[in-house]
Amino acid sequence: MISVEEALKHVMDNVKLLTPIEKPILDSLGLVIAEDITSTISIPPTDNSGMDGYAVRSEDIRGANPNNPRTLKIIGEVAAGSMPDKVLEPMTAIRVMTGATIPMGADTVIKFEDTNDLERINKIKDTENILIYKSPLKGTAIRKAGEDIQPGTTILNIGTKLTPASIGLLASLGKESILVYPRPKVAIISSGNELTKPGTPLGAGHIYDINTYSLSALIESYGGTPMIMGIAEDNAESLSKLINGSREADLIITSAGVSAGYYDLVKDVIKDYGSISVWSVKMRPGKPVVFGVLDGKKTDRWDKTVPLIGLPGNPVSAMVASHILVRPAIQKVMGGTQFKARTIEAILEDPIINEDGRRVYARAILSKNPDGQYRAQLAGSQGSNILSTLANSNGLAICPETVSSLPAGSKVIVELIDQQLNL
Ligand code: AMP
Ligand code: MG
Repeated sequence: MISVEEALKHVMDNVKLLTPIEKPILDSLGLVIAEDITSTISIPPTDNSGMDGYAVRSEDIRGANPNNPRTLKIIGEVAAGSMPDKVLEPMTAIRVMTGATIPMGADTVIKFEDTNDLERINKIKDTENILIYKSPLKGTAIRKAGEDIQPGTTILNIGTKLTPASIGLLASLGKESILVYPRPKVAIISSGNELTKPGTPLGAGHIYDINTYSLSALIESYGGTPMIMGIAEDNAESLSKLINGSREADLIITSAGVSAGYYDLVKDVIKDYGSISVWSVKMRPGKPVVFGVLDGKKTDRWDKTVPLIGLPGNPVSAMVASHILVRPAIQKVMGGTQFKARTIEAILEDPIINEDGRRVYARAILSKNPDGQYRAQLAGSQGSNILSTLANSNGLAICPETVSSLPAGSKVIVELIDQQLNL
C-alpha cells in the first residue's frame, strides 16, 4: 500500500501545466493568468470630478457659508467624456459632472447641494452666477490622475486567479482579452455491463450510471471541462474504443474495473496505451486506483501524452478519490498553486473506527455552536456504495492511518467537499 501523499505526489509529478491561451476577459472568471499585467496608462487618466458640482479656485471661496455666500461667474460646463475648453479665471466657476476632467486653474469641486444650483436651474435666481455656500478643504471632490493605478505598475501577477474585481481591473486598462491557462478537457469513461444511461429504461440486473454524472459535476466544480465518453462494456474492445476516443483530452478519468475481479480489465487495456501503475492507496474509501501516462498504441501513436486516473467504481469511492487526487491535478494544470482542500477543526460527535490502518475519510455533517465551535456528526452509513450519506454531508472527517479509532468528543480535521461552507 502507498500513502495518500505518495499517490498524490506521483499524480502531481506527471501532470503538466497546460499551454496558455488568449481568452476574452469575460470568459476568464476563475482562470489563472499566465502573464504579468502592467499598466501603460494612469487610472483615472486625468484629474476629474468626484461629484456633480462646480469646479472653483479654493482661494475664491474661502470663508463662504450659507449666511455669507461667495458669488462666482459661471463660464462653462464640462460633462463626463468631454474635455474642458476654458481655463478657470479668478472669481469664476465651471459646472462639472461626476467623472468630468477638471479644468485648468480649478483646485476644488463644490457639490450642487452646497450651491444655489437648483434655484438657478429653475430660473428662480440669476443664471449667470452661482452662489457658493461652503468652503471645503482645497482638493475636495477631485479624483487625482493615477490615484488608482500609475503607468508602469504591475497590477496582476502571473499566477493570479481571476475574480470579478480583477476582471474589472483588466477592463479599466482597456484589455479585452488576456493570456490564461485554459480549462483542461477531462474525458470521463464509466465501465461495467450493469450500467444503464439515465433517461432510458433500466434493464434487468442493471443500475443507472452514477459516476459519469457525479464525476462530470466534480470536474466542472474544479474548473475543468468534462467530455462525456459514455459507458464501456466489460470487454477490451469497448473500453479500448473509448480510451482511444479520448486522445484529445488533457486528462482521462475512468471509473470501476480497477479492483480485483473477473471483469477488471481496465488495467490490461491501459497497458496497451502506455505506462501504468496500480495502487492500493492507504485510504478509505477509494483504495484501488490506477494511474497511467498514455501515448497511444504501438500501431497508432497519439500526438501527445495524456495522464489517466482510474478511480474505483463504487460511487462514493470514486468521488472521494477524485477529491483527493483529481482536484489537485486539475488545479495544477490550470496554473493553480494552492492544492490543499480547505479544512476545519471540529469536535467529533460520533466515533470513527479505523479497521485496517488506512486514512478514513468519514462523511460528516458540520455545524457550528453559538460559541463558534464547529461540530462534526457522522452522516450515517459509511459504505462506499451509499451515496445518500455523501449527498447529506458537507465534509470528510479524517481519522489518520496511524490511529485505530477517534472517540466521540475528540478533535477532528474535516476537509470541505465544497470549498465554500455556509454556516
Ligand atoms: P467494479 O470496480 O467494476 O467492481 O465496481 C464496483 C462497484 O461499483 C460495483 O457495485 C459497480 O456496480 C459499481 N459501479 C461501477 N461503476 C458505476 C457507475 N458508473 N455508477 C454506479 N455504480 C457503479
Ligand atoms: Mg465493474
